[in-house]
Amino acid sequence: MATRRRFLAALGLSMAGPGAILGGLARAADGRGRAIASQGALPHRLAVPGVGTDGPRPVIRVSFRTPFQGGAVYLAVDHATAATARVFGRVSPLSPGPRGVEGFVGFGVADPPGPAVLEVAASDAVGGTFRFAEPITVRETPWTWDDIWLPPPDPDAPPPEGPPLEPEQPRLDALYARVTPRQWELPFVIPVELGGDAWVSGYFGEQRSFNGGPRTGHHGGTDIAAPPGTPVRTTNHGTVVMSELTLVRGNLVVVDHGGGVLSCYGHLSERSVEVGRSVRRGEVIGRVGSTGLSSGPHVHWELAVAGVLVDGLRWLDGTQGF
Ligand SMILES: [Zn+2]
Repeated sequence: MATRRRFLAALGLSMAGPGAILGGLARAADGRGRAIASQGALPHRLAVPGVGTDGPRPVIRVSFRTPFQGGAVYLAVDHATAATARVFGRVSPLSPGPRGVEGFVGFGVADPPGPAVLEVAASDAVGGTFRFAEPITVRETPWTWDDIWLPPPDPDAPPPEGPPLEPEQPRLDALYARVTPRQWELPFVIPVELGGDAWVSGYFGEQRSFNGGPRTGHHGGTDIAAPPGTPVRTTNHGTVVMSELTLVRGNLVVVDHGGGVLSCYGHLSERSVEVGRSVRRGEVIGRVGSTGLSSGPHVHWELAVAGVLVDGLRWLDGTQGF
């Protein structure tokens, strides 16, 4: 007990109510005040190592503890100078923010539903290291599906014009894995405003069957159908890292928002930005079209976090706590 008392004294806390004091810090740090309140007591929160350090200790804020498959949580570690999060063996980078470090953790379509642990490793300005084990529960997403009937190929159809295009997926995968300095700022915005002639024609994660076959796969983005030529806007600040005609997604623009967050916009009729261009949230990057493998004018919008494709619509409605 004496050791514990000295440890607390070094932190400026008393034996009278360390939990209450820490709880107060947590509530002050978290405007919503809910993620922190349910967490464990002192030993879990201050997992030792940085003995002798001064100043406030890192405090975790998790926006949401029951993410869906294909969802994401916003994670902040206040008072930390660096941190990474790990779940299901994947590492999500966190980037400097106004109060410490922050970022997103994505959950894939195949992540198993049920309890899981979000592990966070953080360090502070004087070399203290801290580890947190945050309980979360992944919820099963009820996927939508689309049964597609296609006519058999026409043997008399002329060959497609122009040189054959390489499938773009390997290059997209490589781009989605990159981590550059953070540019994004909350909130994220929808590429094409819904309403009128613009509607969601395909949800993220949707499964498809062709000509009566089994429903398989998961749609990697959100399809928004809109009249040809409708402006398409980037969901957040960033740098254009790809802008070209591709085999599947047609005219495609990829924007790197930094901190491991990237978005892509496919089937455009025209692209209005080139690689290297800095864009601001809501800036027009192209126009709705039906290029590539597409059955009608729409934008295919993907959002990736540390290489994991997630449902962009969930980033817009506040249901994930950010
Ligand atoms: Zn699509």
